[in-house]
Amino acid sequence: MHFMKFENEALAARKKLNVNWSNAIFLIVAHAAAVAALFFWSWAAVITAVVLYWVGGSLGIGMGYHRLLTHRGYKCPKLVEYFLVTCGGVALEGGPIQWVTTHRIHHAHTDREGDPHTPRHGGFWAHMGWILFGTAQDHDQTTIERYAPDVVKDRYYRWLNNFYWAPLLVIGILLFAFGGWGVLLWGVFLRLVLALHATWLVNSATHLWGKTRFETGDDSRNSWWVALLTFGEGWHNNHHAHPTSARHGVHWYEFDLNWLGIRALQLLGLAHGIKHLRFNRATSAWQLVSGRVRGPVVRTDP
Ligand SMILES: [Zn+2]
Ligand SMILES: [Zn+2]
Repeated sequence: MHFMKFENEALAARKKLNVNWSNAIFLIVAHAAAVAALFFWSWAAVITAVVLYWVGGSLGIGMGYHRLLTHRGYKCPKLVEYFLVTCGGVALEGGPIQWVTTHRIHHAHTDREGDPHTPRHGGFWAHMGWILFGTAQDHDQTTIERYAPDVVKDRYYRWLNNFYWAPLLVIGILLFAFGGWGVLLWGVFLRLVLALHATWLVNSATHLWGKTRFETGDDSRNSWWVALLTFGEGWHNNHHAHPTSARHGVHWYEFDLNWLGIRALQLLGLAHGIKHLRFNRATSAWQLVSGRVRGPVVRTDP
């Protein structure tokens, strides 16, 4: 018993001491710059921040990294796929291979041992502790080959995995050259800090608070306010119940801009094989269907 306690304490101490310094220093600088941004307010700065919040959060993380690359909820031409995944770099959440590996591990071990960010190890740990103290975004080759073989075999993704930050660096230089300090601070740092916390809320808040529609055996919840902040990623209980569905908000009133973005791609002829949920009246259950989505953009299922 005493030995067990010692083991746990040793583990806890190791977690505390094992600071990922590059992540920690970057996040401290980014948070300070985000506060500084408040003193450089302008409409140009605010609009730049909103546009980049959407580019990184919706086009990049929601539609690209998550629903397309991780779960293959829909298909699109390679060039469109590369564009969306490259937008993911603007959110600065790591390269696509590492992100996909982490997220597929999360789905394979949700709220159990092996989950890289479950609130069962503490709310702060699930939110940002795992970024500051863990090694979750630094998977070895064996783990990558096991969880993301489809992504790692792509040459462009292998390159982007190391240089995902490059598009944001170019954007930052351009913002500073044409807009000055205010536009840079809002468009990059304040926007980035808000977007990171929004994404992290999917790992922390939507595994703690909200409603459950589906029996998933994990702690995932549907959270309308996290959905608002993340363009629809907050319908997390729906998502854990049917991970491959490209639509997370299953009702018209469940705000899911990422789904509308995928529908827009379909209307442009750029997305197909879209997996989504349909309510089957005969069985009174939600059913995963695949193919062309018909009817209005927003359906009114029961
Ligand atoms: Zn989850
Ligand atoms: Zn997922």
